Amino acid sequence: MTVHDHDAHHEAPLAPVEARVAAIERVLTERGLLDAAVLDDVVAHFENDLGPMNGAKVIARAWVDPDYKRRLLADATVAIAELGFGGPEGEHMVVVENTPRVHNLVVCTLCSCYPWPVLGLPPRWYKAPAYRARAVREPRALLAEMGTDLPDGVEIRVWDSSAEVRYLVLPERPAGSDGYSADELASLVTRDSMIGVERL
Ligand code: FE
Repeated sequence: MTVHDHDAHHEAPLAPVEARVAAIERVLTERGLLDAAVLDDVVAHFENDLGPMNGAKVIARAWVDPDYKRRLLADATVAIAELGFGGPEGEHMVVVENTPRVHNLVVCTLCSCYPWPVLGLPPRWYKAPAYRARAVREPRALLAEMGTDLPDGVEIRVWDSSAEVRYLVLPERPAGSDGYSADELASLVTRDSMIGVERL
């Protein structure tokens, strides 16, 4: 039995993440465990098909269609699927509505649960321990630091996304957007407003 040399683990500096990913991809492909074409499809799906533009379409539709908004707040998963969005990390969606008196903020305190079909992959700060802790402990101060000053009278509700439920914020429709088409409205909706760190 050899003596375990702890320091041996730390001698070689880690390669940049891209190099490590490329090496893993090559080994898996060579061993027939990974089909490079399938991998390209998966990457393209994340790059082209998933993202906040999907969530923006959901929000814009809710702004122009009161019946859709009712369905969205009643069962978000079904209403979002009406627009063709769904799948992994979005199987159990809940939409929470901002009003002049209530502001909703989404976090995953445990890790980085996030609604991929409507928002894509989470931004780096969403996964940071500071965001995850402070969103619960001091949401008003956190929002102010992120550029969103909420009036004292506005109640902040914090929603903890998890493996079971993923939350999406329905922001208030911006003033002065009367007469906008759904496409024009969708262009006003930001990713951050659907997480709740920004007001439109
Ligand atoms: Fe998580």
